[in-house]
Amino acid sequence: MDLSKHAYFEGKIVPLADAKINIATHGFLYGTAVFGGMRAYWNEEKKRLFVFRPYDHFRRLLHSARMMAMPVEYDEESLIQITLDLLKTDQWKQDIYFRPSFYKADLGIGVRLHDLRDELCIFVIPFEKYVKNDTNAHVTFSSWRRIDDNAIPARGKVAGAYANSALIKTDANRSGFDEALVLDQNGHVSEGSAMNIFMVRDGVVITPPVTDNVLEGITRRTIIELARKELNMEVVERSIDRTEVFVSEEIFMTGTAAQVTVVTKVDHRPVGAGVMGPVASKLRTLYDGVVRAQNPKYAHWNLEVPQ
Ligand code: PMP
Repeated sequence: MDLSKHAYFEGKIVPLADAKINIATHGFLYGTAVFGGMRAYWNEEKKRLFVFRPYDHFRRLLHSARMMAMPVEYDEESLIQITLDLLKTDQWKQDIYFRPSFYKADLGIGVRLHDLRDELCIFVIPFEKYVKNDTNAHVTFSSWRRIDDNAIPARGKVAGAYANSALIKTDANRSGFDEALVLDQNGHVSEGSAMNIFMVRDGVVITPPVTDNVLEGITRRTIIELARKELNMEVVERSIDRTEVFVSEEIFMTGTAAQVTVVTKVDHRPVGAGVMGPVASKLRTLYDGVVRAQNPKYAHWNLEVPQ
């Protein structure tokens, strides 16, 4: 994988090769880290890179840190400034994805959250398509359950919780599926391994509420707003039953990495007509324009990287 030439590590921008942690680091041993997954898009017309919704992403990262008892001294603005400095250093002229993490940085054994030092690091990778078949994905219901808010908070991005996502993803892929839908402990559809889920039923856009053990997705929030404002559709946040998926008109999944990934088959049953539907298709086009800073109405979500 192509990685950035530089990273943010222990308070400064350094060559990536120097951004190394010790094997005895707490965050590595116990998954006691929280992270964000963010993108910046290249706008060819303006010849500039734009970060998508950085304030919202960093706000969620700080909330994840709070859940894991990390009293970090950064705020949204200081994290944005570090990001701009890092992206400027490597002069990116293409779509990229970057990963800020706060991790428990002390060395040694002893599982806990308190009395440990927290550090920030960020690295960057060029954009890659996350789900190969993003207009016709075939997904399965995972035999794994989504982690519960009372086990590891699902509303934030806790590194250790991604062992759950990894189990889900690998079993789905090894069985020949592109992704999986995951039920929570109550048997409701929560989300995918790393994306939120939407269903269109009787012309209404439906997505599980943030109290159903889902990550509070920034793309989810973006899509809810675009569906309401641009497609004039009703959007309802409510629990989704497993078999509702089989009788829905459309299913799509959203995430910073997955963008808007369309599901056309669930466990060998076609969704609706078995091809990408009109709502997902329109939202994909709208989303692409918005993230690329081509839609002035949503320019407040695009932060230009100075050159
Ligand atoms: N759910 C999970 C479990 C995820 O890891 C992600 C990716 N961050 C999402 C949903 C989508 O969230 P976002 O739109 O903020 O990227």
